Amino acid sequence: MNENDICPQDVECVDKEAFPSVMQMAKNLMSDGGKILNNAIQGNSTLVDDTIREQRWSTCLSCPRLQNDRCLECGCFMKVKVAFVTSKCPIEKW
Ligand code: SF4
Repeated sequence: MNENDICPQDVECVDKEAFPSVMQMAKNLMSDGGKILNNAIQGNSTLVDDTIREQRWSTCLSCPRLQNDRCLECGCFMKVKVAFVTSKCPIEKW
C-alpha cells in the first residue's frame, strides 16, 4: 500500500499527526459541550448572531492553523464551533 491508496491525488488529506491527541480532543469536546449545556440551562443564548459568527469564521479562514475546516490547535470543526457563545479561539484570535 502506498500513500496514494490512502490519499488519492484529487483529495486533500489531513495530517492527522498535526492535530491534538484523541484524548485531548475528547476533553475539549466534553468541556465545550458542558459550557454550552450550562449556558442553556441558565437560560442564556447558546448561539452568537450571524455577524459575530461570520467575523469568527473569517478570522479562521485567514488563519494558518485552519486545515480542512478544522483547527490544528483544538481539533474542532470550526464551521460549527464559531456559532456558540461559549466558544473561544485557543490562541485568542477571537
Ligand atoms: S480557532 Fe483560532 S487558532 Fe483555530 S483556526 Fe480559528 S483563528 Fe486559528
